[in-house]
Amino acid sequence: MNETDFATLVATTQKTLQHVADQFAPAVFASSLAAEDQVLTDMILRSKLPITIFTLETGRLHAETLGVLDRIKETYGVEIALYRPQPEAVDAYVRQNGLNAFYESVDMRKECCRIRKVEPLNRALQGNRSWITGQRRAQSSTRAELHVQEQDDAHDMVKFNPLADWSEADVWHYIRSNNVPYNPLHDKGYPSIGCEPCTRAIQPGEDVRAGRWWWENPESKECGLHVVDGKLIRIKPVSTTA
Ligand code: SF4
Repeated sequence: MNETDFATLVATTQKTLQHVADQFAPAVFASSLAAEDQVLTDMILRSKLPITIFTLETGRLHAETLGVLDRIKETYGVEIALYRPQPEAVDAYVRQNGLNAFYESVDMRKECCRIRKVEPLNRALQGNRSWITGQRRAQSSTRAELHVQEQDDAHDMVKFNPLADWSEADVWHYIRSNNVPYNPLHDKGYPSIGCEPCTRAIQPGEDVRAGRWWWENPESKECGLHVVDGKLIRIKPVSTTA
């Protein structure tokens, strides 16, 4: 992509974020502190858009990921809101199944994600009209039909994926050009970063999400944040509005 096309892509994305802030307030951005999320965080905070940024602090994140929170505060003077799992639910799961039972079956893994991610996400989304994610279409087979704007019936909200059309190269071009802080694990073979025990580095040529829940089939590799009853909740795409 040449610089003119890239500038157009950035401008379109900024316009989408402004549109969300203007027309779909209150709006929140669910950041996992990954490279894509850092692009959106930079755009939101530099433009001082009234969009609350939060992250799900699952209790199993890498120290490097938590360090990104400090880098954001240093760079923009803003603290990202943290949503944590209910301690009683975590205690019960660990007591009954063990700390790392998610390796035993997809169901066990989904239950852990439900407790540590899905329930806190639902809490974070409550009372808002729209939410934003940093998902990209090219990230995996489960995201191939991603749209910039979608109707999220499960949460009765409008969901925006402003980076749906971005490539990985676009993300890194933006980060380097704008000196955006990012997770140092990305430089160590981790293109996609989740909880520490469920993420590994990938080898050259592997799919970018191959390091997430690597012991499972590609089709089951979503954490439940975008899945209901085993199905991706991406059923009502809406044409791009900005
Ligand atoms: S990614 Fe792993 S540790 Fe994190 S919530 Fe899901 S199963 Fe649990």
